Amino acid sequence: LKFCQALPKVELHAHLNGSLRDTTIRELALKRNLDPALTKVIEMGDRTLSECFKLFDIIHRITTDHDTITRITCEVIEDFAADNVHYLELRTTPKTRSEHGMTKRSYTEAVLKGMQEAQQGSRGQNITVRLLLSIDRREDTAAALETVQLAAELHSRGIVGIDLSGNPTVGKWSAWEPALQEARRQGLKVTLHAAEVYNPEETAAMLHFRPERLGHMCCLDERLEVLHYNTGIPVELCLSSNIITESVASYPEHHFHPFYSAGHPVILCTDDSGVFCTSLSKEFAIAAHAFQLSNSQLWQLSEAAIDHTFLKEEEKEQLRKKFQIARATLE
Ligand code: IMP
Repeated sequence: LKFCQALPKVELHAHLNGSLRDTTIRELALKRNLDPALTKVIEMGDRTLSECFKLFDIIHRITTDHDTITRITCEVIEDFAADNVHYLELRTTPKTRSEHGMTKRSYTEAVLKGMQEAQQGSRGQNITVRLLLSIDRREDTAAALETVQLAAELHSRGIVGIDLSGNPTVGKWSAWEPALQEARRQGLKVTLHAAEVYNPEETAAMLHFRPERLGHMCCLDERLEVLHYNTGIPVELCLSSNIITESVASYPEHHFHPFYSAGHPVILCTDDSGVFCTSLSKEFAIAAHAFQLSNSQLWQLSEAAIDHTFLKEEEKEQLRKKFQIARATLE
């Protein structure tokens, strides 16, 4: 774990409200007088996939106002920075909460404020952060388009792409595809949560769309696997998340191994570091142990993630240089 902590890292799949500090969750639950039965759900640690989505709804009940959104953004960035993450692509779903005077735009502005505050503070100086706006699978075409429009308008302020996420058993691809096509027309990059459950038609449609990245890809049949390998699309893999939610039975059986062995581009990520009690260093340590990776392989894995960021080429080059300096210091 020590080596993995010292390793400079890139985090490309982290949901804001899933990455909350435990202490902050408790504090906010207390302040908001959260129903004790709901507080119990938070503490129970039951994290199957369907329980996770109940938990996210509970977390959303305590992160309702703009100041809290700014605060948690700032804390999450500081936590990744403390874990030696040099580049973070954070993602979050813009929310309309009329009862709290919140629109998708004001929510996103609150997140951007948190990003700015964190990077101006002493603990966030060594980390570069960009934002992806997520479309929740519960949303219809109009809501998805609103998110894409917002991302396009705020592009120059650090929003680099669009993510599709949410309960994988909910919704239909045809509802979000027009918005995702629009994102592409607007020059935004796209990453999709795919194959978290077995849904061959949807997964094939997602592969056909050719997003820049995919997340998870746990439930594939042989045909989809070949189709996926042929596209060469990099995959964000979240080991703890997949095991805890029971999407994958055990670490040795995780698809990291066949993907990595086939030379398919993979990126280790946390998904929801708060909900799954993990960090990117821990994910690297788990991979090192489960798949017998050497320190040099961990280096390569970490550095290769730079290629798959949604940064511009010159920004990637700067990040590579930063990694090289860190490597020289470490060796
Ligand atoms: P938020 O977008 O900042 O509110 O982060 C929490 C949200 O991220 C959840 O409500 C889900 O929509 C999404 N999310 C977090 N983890 C997962 C996952 O493993 N699969 C699909 N969606 C997820």
